[in-house]
Amino acid sequence: MLPRDPGQTNLAGMSHDHHHDHDNDLDPMAARVRALETILTEKGLIDPAAIDAIVETYETKVGPRNGARVVAKAWADADYADWLRRDATAAIASLGFSGRQGEHMQAVFNTPDTHNLVVCTLCSCYPWSVLGLPPVWYKAPPYRSRAVIDPRGVLEEFGLTLPPDTKIRVWDSTAELRYLVVPMRPEGTEGWDETRLAELVSRDSMIGTALARQAEAA
Ligand code: FE
Repeated sequence: MLPRDPGQTNLAGMSHDHHHDHDNDLDPMAARVRALETILTEKGLIDPAAIDAIVETYETKVGPRNGARVVAKAWADADYADWLRRDATAAIASLGFSGRQGEHMQAVFNTPDTHNLVVCTLCSCYPWSVLGLPPVWYKAPPYRSRAVIDPRGVLEEFGLTLPPDTKIRVWDSTAELRYLVVPMRPEGTEGWDETRLAELVSRDSMIGTALARQAEAA
């Protein structure tokens, strides 16, 4: 179970509009959500553990499935990949994924030479329309500061060791522009359909803190 983020609950994060407050200051909506959660918990109407489970599901499963479909389509369809490269907002919206925190998207494609990593150094901008709710670590100050200063070290902590000659490009999200990493298509997946390919695309691989799963994982 992920720890609750003291600076901004996930539910309150829904209203996040890119203010750059200090991390420990609850914005007014976050404070209201926290107060409501406390009251409902005290009255025995909700179980915080159940809420955590729901939030975790949206972080890791439901939300990122949209992005996984985008990546799988790009792997399977060269024309779509080209469109995604030129106009990610439109290419993603064509699959029905658009709206808040996904209005202006850019897709960044990993290659054998260059690995892409996404961060929001100022707060927690994240492409909700394709990835769902941001993980707690994405919003945490250590990730936000160190992803820029020492991306290779951060990736090592995620268990991802890249070849020394692979360049790492760090993309800093803003309210205006959010990034989706398109990981490299794993070997041994020739002829796979998009549904099967999408199973190899994890949330973290679309943030850049992991690679796509190997073919044997599906
Ligand atoms: Fe932000």
